[in-house]
Amino acid sequence: MNDSKKWSEALTYTKKSVYELREEKEIDKAMEYARGYAAFLDAAKTERESVRESVRLAEAQGFRPYRFGDEMKPGDKFYYNNRDKNLYLFTVGTEPIECGIRISAAHIDSPRIDLKQCPLYEESGMSFFKTHYYGGIRKYQWVATPLALHGVVIKKDGTSVEVCIGEDESDPVFYINDLLPHLGHEIDRKPLGEAIPGEKLNILVGSRPFDGEGESDSIKLRTLYLLHEKYGITEEDFLSAEISAVPAFKARDIGFDRSLLGAYGHDDRVCAYPALSAIMENADSKHTLMCVLADKEETGSDGNTGMKSDLLLDLINAIAKARGGDPAAVRAASRCLSADVSAAYDPNFSDVFEKRNSALLSAGVVLCKFTGARGKSGTNDASAEYIGWLRRVMAADEIVWQAGELGRVDCGGGGTVAKFIAEHNIETVDLGVPVISMHAPFEVISKVDLYEAYRAFSAFCQHD
Ligand code: MN
Ligand code: MN
Repeated sequence: MNDSKKWSEALTYTKKSVYELREEKEIDKAMEYARGYAAFLDAAKTERESVRESVRLAEAQGFRPYRFGDEMKPGDKFYYNNRDKNLYLFTVGTEPIECGIRISAAHIDSPRIDLKQCPLYEESGMSFFKTHYYGGIRKYQWVATPLALHGVVIKKDGTSVEVCIGEDESDPVFYINDLLPHLGHEIDRKPLGEAIPGEKLNILVGSRPFDGEGESDSIKLRTLYLLHEKYGITEEDFLSAEISAVPAFKARDIGFDRSLLGAYGHDDRVCAYPALSAIMENADSKHTLMCVLADKEETGSDGNTGMKSDLLLDLINAIAKARGGDPAAVRAASRCLSADVSAAYDPNFSDVFEKRNSALLSAGVVLCKFTGARGKSGTNDASAEYIGWLRRVMAADEIVWQAGELGRVDCGGGGTVAKFIAEHNIETVDLGVPVISMHAPFEVISKVDLYEAYRAFSAFCQHD
């Protein structure tokens, strides 16, 4: 039995960390790659800003706007900007279009706090905005923290004005009040999810009266006056506005060794950015490639900028037609990586994870065969065959990857855009980066996992 070491090596599978498997200079490349990603995060805190920033990067690489009906030839690089909130990029390959399209689909919306349509009011010496949160937030995390306002206002005359305040060092920031501990005895006994109800998420925006006279609503009036001065808007213009409060902090290295990156909105820009870099750098692939940056994932993928919109099919149909293929055959042969984050195993909350099947931080990009809740409800459960193919793709490029499941069985659950793509008869599986404190105002990822994700999306663009 002294052969056991030999047999153990031959037969057992052990998850390894990127640091065990990669040489020092490769790790340095990952740290460098994260710098570009951090800059992207700071420039793109909302879906609109993500579209704008992605278009800017893609245009610099020769991508140009696609209009339905445009002709296509191999080597062409297009983007389709859907209402400034959802972006499709695609490159036309040399192989027949009936070999399918390689699609990576990430989302660029993140949990945040939206203003209501009649937001501004004054009360007890302060002016506030009423809000309605967007996506799955833990409300207690959003109080007593600096917030920035981002968005767009469509004015009465139809002109549009962009709002971004709280990002520049000289800008003011905004704030949601919290209760002092001295008076918190009653609230402290409530379950965490009930301590801060949604209607208490009011954003503090001012306290100085218009003329010092103490007229009623004079603080509100000064707020309106300043908004008018800066943006030319009136209170009525909020009716046709989309303004969101997002954390006012920038992406920062975390840890003495700077191996981690903290930021708002890793979910899901930590997959959107590597998927975008992969399509830009592999535009010469023989495969036809598509990268989708979707909106509305955090609220269920509904709406005309979400992944349930027919636009995906419309574009596949247009590509098939332009390249002389049958759309149904194109979809049947297409393969998709639903590029979304997973929960990283957190030893501080070990009771909600099952360690053997959780994604470990710095153990590489994570492949989730299925998502969903309870008995795999609401999941695209990717086939063993498709995962088998991906294993070979990853092995060929020596990508460090791991299998992972969100948490313990029956402990909760979640979904991604995977099922909305798979239902069009497209092979789809979830692949992404493990995240600590997902959906918090400041989330954490490991830079080496980000780089393995980029390498995985690249391999997917290239391999047979
Ligand atoms: Mn996500
Ligand atoms: Mn999410």
